[in-house]
Amino acid sequence: MAELIDGGTTAHHAYPCEQCGASVEFAAGTGTLTCPYCGHAQQVDVGTREVREHDFATLAATQRPVAPATQDYRCGKCGAVTTSDHLSQKCGFCGSPMVAEVETLGLVEPEAVLPFEVDRASMQSALQKWVRSRWFAPSALKKVVSAEQAHGVYLPHWTFDARTRSDYVGQRGEHYWVTETYTTTDSEGRSQTHTRQVQKTRWYHASGTVARDFDDVLVAGTGRVMPEHLAKLSPWPLDKALSYQPDYLAGYETLRYDVEPEAGLDVAKQEMAPVIENDCERDIGGDVQRVHQVSTGYADVTYKLLLLPVWIATYLYGGKPFQVLVNARTAEVVGQRPWSAWKIVLTVLAGLLLIGAIVWAVVAAQGGWTVSVVNSDLALSGHPATRESVGLYADPGL
Ligand SMILES: [Zn+2]
Ligand SMILES: [Zn+2]
Repeated sequence: MAELIDGGTTAHHAYPCEQCGASVEFAAGTGTLTCPYCGHAQQVDVGTREVREHDFATLAATQRPVAPATQDYRCGKCGAVTTSDHLSQKCGFCGSPMVAEVETLGLVEPEAVLPFEVDRASMQSALQKWVRSRWFAPSALKKVVSAEQAHGVYLPHWTFDARTRSDYVGQRGEHYWVTETYTTTDSEGRSQTHTRQVQKTRWYHASGTVARDFDDVLVAGTGRVMPEHLAKLSPWPLDKALSYQPDYLAGYETLRYDVEPEAGLDVAKQEMAPVIENDCERDIGGDVQRVHQVSTGYADVTYKLLLLPVWIATYLYGGKPFQVLVNARTAEVVGQRPWSAWKIVLTVLAGLLLIGAIVWAVVAAQGGWTVSVVNSDLALSGHPATRESVGLYADPGL
């Protein structure tokens, strides 16, 4: 079973294999710690604790110690010291899994975890499918599939619950029809009178109160992985989250949160806002609505820190790093991809040739018109690769 290494450096859990002396790691989808060398498997210590939400007001009122930027982990197996800002990783020298005893770091402790379910082999076939379905991808993209260096990483997320009550001021629009008269002049200069139905809107003042309870509004707890990509990995089976146990992290990397819970709550409120505005519009009724002002009160705000499992593959193309993420629960793939300029050009040329052939055939059939070929406006030069999304985030130091 896991043993606690505590002596001078960061207290952490180590996972020696009871059978062969190597180390056991959490095996995705199995609920066991398994030795990759001898196959010995032992059940994860699931504990008896249930996943709980914590009171946010209490957290906000508590002075939290400033956690050191990095910690030193002394490997229980080889004695080497690894400096790292991760909550878990492998020893940089012998590869033994190390999982920090989080209480000792002065950070908010993870409450829940969705353990890895998609293992490396399934991750690679998901990537393969993704690559095959990319149009105009350079052949180099195929290398991402063989990305042996893909990392299994737990990414910190905050979830927030809140009861909200919102007072709003706005307007309710009701449509009505009027008959309008208009005149036209015909080609001989005679003027004619017509009528038509025109829709108009009468606006009324509207105000009221709406209430909504939010559950598990999910906010990324790290800015080190592109947020728009992270958001696309949703939905997560949040109801399957288990209470945090260090065993689930053995053999994987775990990022610390760098978005503080207060900042996370601000983001959560921004996520709630459009839902509340929608409620206001429904409350206003009528045919169309305007919402001028919403003032929301939040009560019983609770939070938890949740670790979500993601495979991160990074590959270089044209000297630039590209990142691909795989949801390690649903196998959903989200990523940046380069475009192959010459594949696009070849396809466009093939298309033009086809059009040319059709035009020629039609012309030939109709008895020999003269055809001038329209100059196509294709930029054949340009960049070898363009990005699906802009803004490059650093590989999270993996
Ligand atoms: Zn073993
Ligand atoms: Zn070591």
